[in-house]
Amino acid sequence: MNDTKRTHTMIGHNRYPHMFSPLDLGFTKLKNRVLMGSMHTGLEETENGIERLATFYAERARGGVGMIITGGFSPNDEGGIGSKLSTPEEAAEHRKITQVVHETDPEVKICLQILHMGPLAKDESCVAPSPVKPRIGRFTPQELSEEGIEKQISDYANCAAMAKLAGYDGVEIIGSAGYLISTFLVQRTNQRTDRWGGSWENRMRFPVEVVRRVREAVGKEFILAFRVPAMDMLEDGLAWEEVVSLAQALEAEGVNVISSHFCWHESPVPTIATMVPRAAFTQVTGRLRKLLKVPVITSNRINMPQVVEEVLARGDADIVSMARPMLADPELVLKAEQGREDEINTCIACNQACLDHVTGGGKQVSCLVNPRACNETLLNYRPAKEQKKIAVVGAGPAGLAYSTVAAQRGHKVTLFDSGSEIGGQFNLAKQVPGKEEFHETLRYFGKMIELRGIDLRLNTTVDAEMLRSMDFDEVVVASGITPRTPDIDGIDHPKAVSYIDVILRRKPIGKSVAIVGAGGIGFDVAELITHAGKSASLDIDIFAREWGIDFKNHPRGGVTGVPRSVETADRIVYLMQRKTGSVGKTLGRTTGWAHRATLNARGVQMVNGVEYVQIDDAGLHTRVHGVPKLFDVETIIICAGQSPLRTLYDELQTAGIKTSVVGGAYEAAELDAKRAIDQASRMAAEV
Ligand code: FAD
Ligand code: NAP
Ligand code: SF4
Repeated sequence: MNDTKRTHTMIGHNRYPHMFSPLDLGFTKLKNRVLMGSMHTGLEETENGIERLATFYAERARGGVGMIITGGFSPNDEGGIGSKLSTPEEAAEHRKITQVVHETDPEVKICLQILHMGPLAKDESCVAPSPVKPRIGRFTPQELSEEGIEKQISDYANCAAMAKLAGYDGVEIIGSAGYLISTFLVQRTNQRTDRWGGSWENRMRFPVEVVRRVREAVGKEFILAFRVPAMDMLEDGLAWEEVVSLAQALEAEGVNVISSHFCWHESPVPTIATMVPRAAFTQVTGRLRKLLKVPVITSNRINMPQVVEEVLARGDADIVSMARPMLADPELVLKAEQGREDEINTCIACNQACLDHVTGGGKQVSCLVNPRACNETLLNYRPAKEQKKIAVVGAGPAGLAYSTVAAQRGHKVTLFDSGSEIGGQFNLAKQVPGKEEFHETLRYFGKMIELRGIDLRLNTTVDAEMLRSMDFDEVVVASGITPRTPDIDGIDHPKAVSYIDVILRRKPIGKSVAIVGAGGIGFDVAELITHAGKSASLDIDIFAREWGIDFKNHPRGGVTGVPRSVETADRIVYLMQRKTGSVGKTLGRTTGWAHRATLNARGVQMVNGVEYVQIDDAGLHTRVHGVPKLFDVETIIICAGQSPLRTLYDELQTAGIKTSVVGGAYEAAELDAKRAIDQASRMAAEV
C-alpha cells in the first residue's frame, strides 16, 4: 500500500472506527462491518447472467464491502424464483461468481441467499403450510404433506451443500417477508393441526429443522446466516417473544449470524421507500442483539457511512446491511475509507429502477442515479479516443449526467444553466416532504463537476449566437421541459397557478384547492400542501405515528392497527384527472400505494373522470363522469404534464449548428429522472 493510500485509509478508519473494525466469526473474519444485502437483479435468469453477475459482484468487492449476499436462489423448482441451485452442474456455473469475487479481494466473503418463495411463487404448483392465498400472490398454494415438508427441508440442505461446492463462504436463509419459512411462523398462514402448526413450538419447527439440516450438510466452518422477521408489520404477525425465541433457537442450532428483517410483502407499512427515515428500524435490532450471543445484522434505509457508524456506535447491530446503496455506488465503502464521502452517489430510495423493475414483470434491475448498475459488462465510461470541446446546455439530471460522464472520459465540458444552482427540476423535487434525499444527488453531481474540471456557468441563458461564437465541437441541449398549459376556459384567471409557483412558494394558495392532473407532480404537490409540521421522513417518531408502528411496546407485528395519526394542513384538497381509472395508477409500483395511503389519511379527495369546463371567480367548473359540478375552491394548481423545451434546439438547427438533444428536451412524455440520466449517460459514453 502506498503512503497516500495508507493516509486515506487512516482517515476513514479514524472517522468510522466501528464501521472499519473487523469482525471475528471464529473460523473466519469479516474485514469490516458492511454487508451488501441480497437483491434479485434479474440477471440471474438472463443469458450470460452468471458472467454478468460475477462482474457486478466483483465491482462491489473492489469497492470495499466486507461481505456480499447474492440475490435469492431457490433450493428446488417449488421455490419459484427462476434461478435455482440444486445440482453440481449449477454449482460449477456459480463458481464463476465466487472465483472472480475471491480473486478480486480474498478478504471479501460471499454467501448465497437461499430463497424459497412458498405461496409467493408465480406458479400454480406453489406450496405452503396451508392453502392460504396471499393478498399479493397469484395462486392459492398447495398444502404441503408431511413428505412434502421433508422434501423442502432436504432441498434446503442440498442447496447449502451445493453453495459450498460452488465456493461460497456461506449461505443466508431468508425466513421472513411472506416467503415459505415465514408462512410456517404466522398463524394466519399456518393453519395446520399437525406437528408443524398450532402452538408456537410447532410453528417454528420448520425453520429450526431447516437450519439443523443445513448445518449438518455444510459442517461447522461455513457461514450460516438467517433472516428473521424482526418486525413483520402485520397486525396478526409475530409477537416480540416469538421473534426472540426463534432467534435463540436458531442460534442454538448453529446459526452464525442473525439478520433482522423488517418486511412482509403484504404489509401496509412502507419499510424502505423514500418516506422512511434513515435507519428507522435499527432500534429493534438493538433490542434483539442484547438477547443473543451471535452477531446481528440490521438494515433498511441506511445509505451513508455516517449512518452506518451511528448505528454501530449506538450498539444497534454488529453488521450493517446495505443493498440498494450498493447499486447506486459500488465504491461506497472505499470512498468512506478514503475520506471521500462527498463523492458517494447516494441511493435516494426511489425504487424506480430497482424494486419497481423486479416487481414489474421481471425487468432487469438497475439504478436511477447509476445506470451502470447491473450493466457493468455493457455500459462503460472508457477514455475518449479524441478530446472534444463540448457545450452542455441545462444542468438538470440529463445535463449533469451527460457532463460528468463526458468529462470523466476526458472531454472538455462547459455546462450552462440559466438558474443560480445546478439541478433543474430536482430543485423542485427536493422541496417535497419525503424527497429530502434528492439533495444528496445534487451534492454528488456538484462534487463531480469540481473533480472532473467541468467549467460550470450558472445564471447564463444560452442562445445560438453565443454557442456559435464559442466554437464547440459538440453541443448538447438538455434544456428540459415547459409545463403544459391545458386548454381550459379562464386558465389565465388569478385562481389558476402553476405547480412551479406553488413549490417555490412564489404564490399564496388558499384553504381549498383543486389540483388539475394526478401524475407524479400532482401527487407531490398534494403532499406538499397538505403537509404540516416536520417531515415524517426526517423523524422516526412522527413516521411511526403516521404508520401505526409501536417501537416501544412491540405488539404483534410491531403495529398497533389503530387509525393513523397524521398531522395535516388545514386545507381541503381535490386531486383530479380526466381518466376514469383509479387515481395514482401511474405512480411507482412499489411506492404508489404508500403515497395514495398518505393522501387518503390526510383527507385528500381523489376525483377521476373529470372534464375541465371553466375557471372563474366561483372556482373550477367541471363535468365529473358527465355530471356538471362546481368545485368552489380558492386555488387551482395546474399539474397537467409537460412538453419539451426546444427553443434553443430549434434555433441551433436553423443556424446549422450540429446538436444532440437529451432528457426532457428530447421527449417529455413519461419522462422521469431515471430516463433522463440513463439516456444522457449512454450518449456521453459514446461521444
Ligand atoms: P430539467 O430538470 O428540467 O433541467 C433543464 C435545465 O435546463 C434547467 O435547469 C433549466 O434552467 C436549464 N435551461 C433550459 N433552457 C436553458 C437555456 N437556454 N440556457 C441555459 N439553461 C437552460 N423524476 C423522477 O424520476 N423521480 C421523482 O421522484 C421525481 N420527482 C419530481 C418532483 C417534482 C416536484 C418535479 C417537478 C419533477 C420530479 N421528477 C421526478 C422529474 C424529474 O425531475 C425530471 O424528469 C428531470 O428533472 C428531467 O431532467 P432534464 O435534465 O431533462 O430537465
Ligand atoms: P404525468 O405523470 O404525465 O401526469 C400529468 C397529469 O396531467 C396526468 O394526471 C394527466 O391525466 C393530466 N393531463 C395531461 N394532459 C392534460 C391536459 N391537457 N389537461 C388536463 N390534464 C392533463 O406528468 P407530471 O405529473 O407532470 O410528471 C412529470 C414527470 O415527472 C412524470 O413522467 C413523472 O414520472 C415524473 N415524476 C415522478 C415522480 C415519482 O415520484 N416517481 C414524482 C414526480 C414526477 P389525465 O390525462 O387523466 O387528466
Ligand atoms: Fe436507490 Fe433509486 Fe437507485 Fe433503487 S433506483 S438503488 S432506490 S437510487
